[in-house]
Amino acid sequence: KTLQAPRPEVGQLLPGVKNIIAVSSGKGGVGKSTVAANLAVGLSKLGYKVGLLDADVFGPSMPKMFHVEDAHPYAESVDGRDLIVPVESYGIKMLSIGFFVDPDQATLWRGAMACNALKQLIGDANWGDLDYFILDTPPGTSDIHLTLVQTLPITGAVIVSTPQKVALADARKGINMYQNEKVNVPILGLVENMAWFTPAELPQNKYYLFGKEGVKRLAEEMHVPLLGQIPIVQSICENGDNGTPEVLNDGSQTGQAFMAFARRVV
Ligand code: ADP
Repeated sequence: KTLQAPRPEVGQLLPGVKNIIAVSSGKGGVGKSTVAANLAVGLSKLGYKVGLLDADVFGPSMPKMFHVEDAHPYAESVDGRDLIVPVESYGIKMLSIGFFVDPDQATLWRGAMACNALKQLIGDANWGDLDYFILDTPPGTSDIHLTLVQTLPITGAVIVSTPQKVALADARKGINMYQNEKVNVPILGLVENMAWFTPAELPQNKYYLFGKEGVKRLAEEMHVPLLGQIPIVQSICENGDNGTPEVLNDGSQTGQAFMAFARRVV
């Protein structure tokens, strides 16, 4: 696959945005979107202006995670241009490919169609001034993902993986893609998700269902920071489904773990 050099005009796509952070995973289902949602809300809780683009064309889950499934973003005229108005939830400006297409149809999209749709959500939306623009990328190292990271001046990437060997192998591919000299996006660090299981009634016990500290070792090996270790907790799953990201819960250990992770990204 030949990688092309980033196009020079792309910095103009998001002129009011200070930092763009891509949240990626090699494998699907490892908690990439959960981590992206909690990072966005965590940064917002720290007082930053945050935008979030759900670019996971094949499984957009942000409308559900932010409890705005029924939103229908509209366009408004700004200086003679029609711009899509992002949906606001928990202080975050958010757009998802899921608002515009039936997910069953999106899986049939060709790469070019998905890329064009994403480019519109980035360049033809009224994102305004933001400190952080979080990009929930499609899993893997697809053409769509590659185009995204080459189209946008990304500040850094957060890679999410579980400690399982198959997930680690794919995470390594993701890291290599970002570190490729033609892409050259810094890796901010790794997040070990589903690091262990702690039953609610035995809060001190840790069961390493997917193996112990595989992501921590990968981070050491690749000389990148480990930004957080998040256990498997029923409330993370339930709060994802309910549209109330875990990090809103100041009293929970996992809420605090997501908050600590957000602080490390700043
Ligand atoms: P991905 O974006 O990598 O496909 P998701 O963030 O959609 O993954 O997570 C997949 C599923 O696992 C979701 O149902 C989510 O709620 C759940 N999940 C993610 N992380 C955790 C966790 N640490 N503990 C419990 N459930 C989790």
